[in-house]
Amino acid sequence: MDNEERYCSMCGRPESLTGKLMRLPMNILLCPDCMDKTSDMVESQMGNMNGAGAIDWNKVMSMYSNGKANPDIINQEMQKGKEEEEKSKQDLKSNKGGKPEDDKKDKKEEKPKVNFISFADLPFDLGLGGKQRVKKREKKEYKPLLELKDIPAPHKIKEMLDEYVIGQEHAKKVMSVAVYNHYKRVATYSMDTIEIEKSNMLMLGPTGCGKTYLVRTLARILKVPLAVTDATSLTEAGYIGDDIESVLSKLLAAADNDVDKAEQGIVYIDEIDKIAKKASTNSRDVSGESVQQGLLKLLEGADIEVPVGASSKNAMVPTTSMNTRNILFICGGAFPGIEEIIKQRLNKTGGIGFQAEVKLPEDKERTILKEVETEDIRKFGMIPEFVGRLPMVFALEGLDEKMMVRILKEPKNAILKQYQKLLELDEVKLEFTEDALELIAKKALKKETGARALRSILDEYMVDIMYEIPKDSNIGTVTITKEYLEGTGGPKIEMRTS
Ligand code: ADP
Repeated sequence: MDNEERYCSMCGRPESLTGKLMRLPMNILLCPDCMDKTSDMVESQMGNMNGAGAIDWNKVMSMYSNGKANPDIINQEMQKGKEEEEKSKQDLKSNKGGKPEDDKKDKKEEKPKVNFISFADLPFDLGLGGKQRVKKREKKEYKPLLELKDIPAPHKIKEMLDEYVIGQEHAKKVMSVAVYNHYKRVATYSMDTIEIEKSNMLMLGPTGCGKTYLVRTLARILKVPLAVTDATSLTEAGYIGDDIESVLSKLLAAADNDVDKAEQGIVYIDEIDKIAKKASTNSRDVSGESVQQGLLKLLEGADIEVPVGASSKNAMVPTTSMNTRNILFICGGAFPGIEEIIKQRLNKTGGIGFQAEVKLPEDKERTILKEVETEDIRKFGMIPEFVGRLPMVFALEGLDEKMMVRILKEPKNAILKQYQKLLELDEVKLEFTEDALELIAKKALKKETGARALRSILDEYMVDIMYEIPKDSNIGTVTITKEYLEGTGGPKIEMRTS
């Protein structure tokens, strides 16, 4: 009898019982049942054979050196596996004369045994792209990122913000106090007797006036993880766009997948005005009010299942649980048109009469946003529950020419300072006349994108300077003048004296 009976490497049953066996590399045979089990590979398990066909982990590690699969070595191994298979078939054929019973017994003894080990326990990344490692939360003790004694006092926080952010005095003050209180709350969280309320914030201000920049600077000062996200990309779960939980996925990524750290971070949601309730909707409002509804539980504090390393939840994406109680949420938006709503309210309360066209003095007109109240934001289209969860509401000023000039030269990492540093490396001093800076500021204001325009304008003018100056090693000082910017003259060049 031709005994070619094969056995499943996992359950040990013969092929005649199990149905056709599947051969995997390195001579592993799997029956359909065990194949099904193994396809439960989400919790990736892999066979480890004993005896003749034992997996040599050193070899496997070399296949996946540096956390990346090495196709050459894998191909070699697969080829070897095939050759061995051929050889064992030939051996069997040439051994046909032997007693079938003995054969069977021998084969049984040779049958490789499979134990399971977890991929996650391997000392290297198999490069399967699947599960991302998430640092598990240690339940036993709660450790605040900032101990009470390490939280800078509000005036210290503001001083540090002053080094980077020009103007916006009111916003910096409110934020410093709110952040100070927030992290005090986080630090004393485990011993709370009186629960301090969350100080989530809502910032209003025209584009490019420094909303994102303020939050980024704040997170850097405090050394806490920060996720910056855009409300326009969010949609109700199941629709095209990012799920609301993706906000937390970003924070988790910013905290190097450390859940404890992420749970004490800051989330900045920009363009929040874009998810205002639509005035009249015939279609389903999947990116407006329903996103506000979805954000409610994040803002308040809840345990949320968060997709790890992806923007939406589905069966293939691993999730982890995160609590948002100690996450500081800051929302920002330009809220175009809210000035009218504020004016109308002021008008009514001022007793001028609702018919009258309100005319405010020009400086008041520019700073009208400062008068904003939650009622105006509700009228704009944010649902009351949403506004209610953002207790700190404040406005940033639109930038004027003077502030633009200061932004060019004063912050610690000001654009001018960066250029000066670059030329300093060529031992050239770079200077700007005051009227040249004013001209740049004027041009930037015209673009109506706030301070964002400054960089592109300056970059444009500086290309020629940065190209020409290093040609002549005798140049000691370059002064950029208004005439140069207007194209009516050149920069002022002074040669080195020595
Ligand atoms: P937005 O208010 O639209 O979020 P950003 O904060 O992104 O604007 O500002 C864009 C860039 O302009 C920042 O990266 C920063 O370099 C600069 N900037 C804006 N406002 C200020 C400011 N008040 N002080 C210093 N730099 C600023």
